[in-house]
Amino acid sequence: MQDKDSVIVIGSGIGGLCAGGLLAYYGKRAIVCESHLTPGGAAHSFRRRGFEFDSGPSFYCGLTDSQSLNPVKQVLDVLGESIQVIPYDPLGHYHFPEGTIAVYSDAKRYYPEVERITPLGATELQRFTERLLGLYEAMRGIPTLALRADWQVILTLLKNYLPSLVKMLPYLPLVQSSAGNVMDATVQDPWVRRLIDLECFLLSGLKAHGTIAPEVAFMLGERSRAGVEYPVGGSGAIVQALVKGLKRWGGQLHLGCHVEQILVESGKVVGVRLESGEILKAPIVISNASIWDTYNHLLRPEDLPANYRQAALETPAVDSFMHLHLGIRADGLENLTGHHVVVHDSQQDITVPGNTCMISIPSVWDASLAPERHHVIHAYTLEPYTGWERNQEYEEKKRQQAQSLYRALEKIIPDIRERVVVELIGTPLTHAHYLRRYQGSYGPAIAAGKGMFPSTHTPIKGLYRVGDSTIPGIGVPAVAASGILCANTLVNRHWE
Ligand SMILES: Cc1cc2nc3c(=O)[nH]c(=O)nc-3n(C[C@H](O)[C@H](O)[C@H](O)COP(=O)(O)OP(=O)(O)OC[C@H]3O[C@@H](n4cnc5c(N)ncnc54)[C@H](O)[C@@H]3O)c2cc1C
Repeated sequence: MQDKDSVIVIGSGIGGLCAGGLLAYYGKRAIVCESHLTPGGAAHSFRRRGFEFDSGPSFYCGLTDSQSLNPVKQVLDVLGESIQVIPYDPLGHYHFPEGTIAVYSDAKRYYPEVERITPLGATELQRFTERLLGLYEAMRGIPTLALRADWQVILTLLKNYLPSLVKMLPYLPLVQSSAGNVMDATVQDPWVRRLIDLECFLLSGLKAHGTIAPEVAFMLGERSRAGVEYPVGGSGAIVQALVKGLKRWGGQLHLGCHVEQILVESGKVVGVRLESGEILKAPIVISNASIWDTYNHLLRPEDLPANYRQAALETPAVDSFMHLHLGIRADGLENLTGHHVVVHDSQQDITVPGNTCMISIPSVWDASLAPERHHVIHAYTLEPYTGWERNQEYEEKKRQQAQSLYRALEKIIPDIRERVVVELIGTPLTHAHYLRRYQGSYGPAIAAGKGMFPSTHTPIKGLYRVGDSTIPGIGVPAVAASGILCANTLVNRHWE
């Protein structure tokens, strides 16, 4: 029997958990089916020999500040959950061949760092930042929680947010624009242009001209106003809080529950078939799997209009990653800081695989993540999926491709190789396998102004999508926003 209030969510990424949690709160019978034995998707944590590793994200802003724009915080508040965090500043160090700068959330401390490299550039960076902070301030009047992905959003905005809407009007051209356009209008200095490209790349996988301006405005605003913080217990703590919130409102999470097919009859969703063969019926199914996985593997080709399917599957993808998860001895590393970005070669583009390496050492903030006198490290860099196969050369290729990460780590901990007690090297195949993501991609590479994100709707009645291929801005806040938009669209509720 199909229960009219049942909703099945395929996947427990942050997008799926936010949608499922909110729908449970709204009174729906929400069931989240997750393939993996651990929830959280790209944001899950895992434990090996006493080390708690973040599989992906470890950079967060505004998880606890009541004024924060972070949609994760808004969902946690609704569900009655919260997490503990450790604030820190500087938020990281950027290591370029020409020098290292500390990146402070507090702009007044950040500009002098840039000034050491380029005084004129520091002034231009300030102009760029202030332009985007204006947009952030205008965005603050309309919480994501109030939004939905259908025409009724207009009613909500006109009824409850008219003054904020008016405040947004002067910024409308900027909302449509790329961070690159703002950079072109404010920054000439080549070094600062590269710095802006780097920050956009860290955020979206694309440089400034590919990254939408509101995404950068959000990042700059949240980090300077709400501050940067690390969740106690790692990324998994955010996932656990969302799971607790889902269950608190009667929702269910089924782990090790792989959905094989979304069942469609006469253009309408009727449920899903699990790998076990069991059929779960529901009039609403929300897929948190990527656009490629949903349309290629979970639906039959005939379920979708051919043109729509083809266009969706042609969505360009950001590359996958090489990962290095290390447990190391910490003796003599008392002054270590937590986030580092190393650019090896200034002559090469920052997006070239291996050239830009991201490093986080979260045990400097939360010592419980590693055994006593040890640290936990996650380093990663872009790596194309093509060419990777589990053949005889696999182990050797893995070690070779991890060398750029080791070289980056040596800039921070020169004797890193002698300190390693746990070493896990992940390739695009690892990423694709554990995260159930098409080619292990970071997400869609839809450049600003070059295409529309497909949103939560699909051509199939009752089938919706959430996650990083539905909304601009890959990252935890963006996918949480996608969960909110989807959940709100399915109920008749208007937040004030
Ligand atoms: C290395 C790395 C570093 C990052 N750093 C940051 C950062 O510092 N800050 C930040 O904000 N963001 C960061 N991100 C981005 C952020 O982690 C992701 O954008 C976000 O977590 C993606 O969430 P999602 O909702 O799209 O779902 P996903 O995380 O993709 O989860 C989808 C879930 O669906 C499940 N699934 C798929 N198919 C099925 C099926 N058929 N049946 C059942 N279950 C299925 C998968 O197993 C998975 O659990 C990082 C990402 C990576 C990879």
